[in-house]
Amino acid sequence: MADVDVVVGIDLGGTKILTVAATPDGRILARKRVATPQGRDAVVAAMRDTVAAVLGEVGAAVPRAIGVGAPGPMDPVAGILLEPPNLPGCANLPLAAIFRQLYPDAGIHVENDANAAALGERRFGAGRGVDDLCYVTISTGIGGGIVAAGRLVRGAAGTGGEVGHTVLAPDGPECHCGLHGCWEVLSSGTAIARAAEAAVARGEGAAIRAAAGSGPVDARAVDQAAAAGDPAALRIVAAAVRYNGIGFCNLIQVLSPARIIVGGGVSRAWDRYIAPAAAWAKRHAFARPGGMCAIVPADLGDDVGALGAVAVGLGDAEAS
Ligand SMILES: [Zn+2]
Repeated sequence: MADVDVVVGIDLGGTKILTVAATPDGRILARKRVATPQGRDAVVAAMRDTVAAVLGEVGAAVPRAIGVGAPGPMDPVAGILLEPPNLPGCANLPLAAIFRQLYPDAGIHVENDANAAALGERRFGAGRGVDDLCYVTISTGIGGGIVAAGRLVRGAAGTGGEVGHTVLAPDGPECHCGLHGCWEVLSSGTAIARAAEAAVARGEGAAIRAAAGSGPVDARAVDQAAAAGDPAALRIVAAAVRYNGIGFCNLIQVLSPARIIVGGGVSRAWDRYIAPAAAWAKRHAFARPGGMCAIVPADLGDDVGALGAVAVGLGDAEAS
């Protein structure tokens, strides 16, 4: 029995590992962040060391549970990473088995990072008490997680909730996944930046370039230029809003969620990229599910991955 009742959440990403020790109600007591090293053994060692560090900091020998949110594709039931493109060298990594050996008395669960984030928002954030919700993160890519009737939708392959790779424009640009016109390739932060760079290259993006200053020509710069009425920026925003609107509308038609929770860097410019899309989606979905769906900002900010992993540790991916 642990002397301090904590759950460890590990947010394993391609660039960083953020590990927290939290109370079961989501209060973070200790956190350790390291850059993700290269190679399988180094990744495992870094994860193990961050877990030991946060447990040491809070004075717990054994956590109640350990949850991991990691990039897909994975087998969440077996707790094995399959061939994550963001983690080279980590193919077929049996994370659950490795941590079960280190902490045999703790519950160990591993889940896809976007699904983990959905569970984190549901347990600790903007989705508390909601049984039917979609979580959508719009940042460099677009990811998602779906909870229906109180259960995470993993689907038969464990890949459920990949909303970013639903096709909204079949004649649109090619996505890295091989499809054309995925939501992600149309209105992610990367897509907005690509459109802004193209406008600059055509000589139409002077205001966007100026708004970017010494920084990148990105969604934030487009937001600022649009606020000043720049026509090129307004066109880019209109395209992103259109596809976000179609994406949200599709979610409402298919799932009738009570809440769509939107996070990620692009959603920080809520009034620009999200609010008009949300209004469009609610207006164009069938009246009853559209009227019953609230589209709201995510609540957990940069901790969503780690707190999502805590929710995974607590067994939320399996809970009925
Ligand atoms: Zn795609």
